[in-house]
Amino acid sequence: SAKYNFCAGPAMLPQAVMQKAQKELIDWNGLGVSVMEISHRSKEFIALTTQAEKTLRELMNIPANYHVLFMHGGGRAQFTNVVTNFLGDNGRALYLTSGQWSSSAIKEAKRIAGEDSIDEINIVETVEGLHQVKLPDLHSVDGDYRYVHYCANETVDGIEIFDTIESPWPVVADLSSTIMSHEIDVSKFGLIYAGAQKNIGPSGLSIVIVRDDMLNLPSLVQSSIMDYTITKDNDSMFNTPPTFAWYLAAEVFEWLKSVGGVGAMEKLNSDKANLLYQCIDELPFYKNGVAVQNRSRMNVTFQLVDNNLDEQFLAEAQAAGLVALKGHRIVGGMRASIYNAMPLAGVQKLVEFMQAFANKHSK
Ligand code: PLP
Repeated sequence: SAKYNFCAGPAMLPQAVMQKAQKELIDWNGLGVSVMEISHRSKEFIALTTQAEKTLRELMNIPANYHVLFMHGGGRAQFTNVVTNFLGDNGRALYLTSGQWSSSAIKEAKRIAGEDSIDEINIVETVEGLHQVKLPDLHSVDGDYRYVHYCANETVDGIEIFDTIESPWPVVADLSSTIMSHEIDVSKFGLIYAGAQKNIGPSGLSIVIVRDDMLNLPSLVQSSIMDYTITKDNDSMFNTPPTFAWYLAAEVFEWLKSVGGVGAMEKLNSDKANLLYQCIDELPFYKNGVAVQNRSRMNVTFQLVDNNLDEQFLAEAQAAGLVALKGHRIVGGMRASIYNAMPLAGVQKLVEFMQAFANKHSK
């Protein structure tokens, strides 16, 4: 019977894409070899990357004054790259913290630029036991910043920010775990980045969408392969790119387009998340600690009220074909990651399992 994989990342990819890729491992594009075995500068591969960018631009409605870069190093490489690319000549930046990943981004920024170059505002408060985001009025914050950084979806904590950040400085956003899960207005951002291994493709790759004028900011000395301008000037091929990851990402973009694009996905993702949160709210057996307006639609964190049953829950879920539900080691509990590739049927099956488990163990 079908298995549903709720891993936070690397996460499940669309089944149709994986089946196509499996066939193409033997013969891609009639070349008699796989895409992994050809030159990144071949006309066939360039056709692939051109199409990938075109489809991504359509899917996200990316304005013409933005560059799309395919880079190495996953999400964390961009924690470094935004600092080295934008904070030359003693530049300063403001970081908003909302959980584990935004905190990691700050740590990295301070490591490179120095503690004094980075200011920080914690934007999560606890109201009646629930975590909620309170965005500060950035127009009333004093400071000369090159950018303000935030993480739109905290993968570990299950906290998502749906509001647009209004800011006098360019907004740099970590969209690793929420990109293409709902519609956004790209023109509100100076730079968007995302590690690929949730809604895009295999790990290692990161996608950067950067507004043209951001490339004029003074940078620190850095590795050429991590320089946004050099990457742009070389069509993301200053060195050999991760070609297989790029190919799979291109296939995921085509798949997403074929199922109706980001708008259709937004509807499905909100149905999936609502179903699961409804189950958690209705059964006193489970709880979630995030205020409704900031509950992540991608990473649904929840706890068993009696955490002595955690191991048994995970074992029985696994036996029922529901895998990788264990929460992140830092926060414990459970986490169901339900990215674009997770079908509604997977969430329905999880909900049925949770109801049955609660029935069996409620006193
Ligand atoms: N940012 C967010 C929101 C993430 O969820 C992750 C990884 O899960 C990262 C950054 C780091 O990505 P990577 O492991 O590709 O460096």
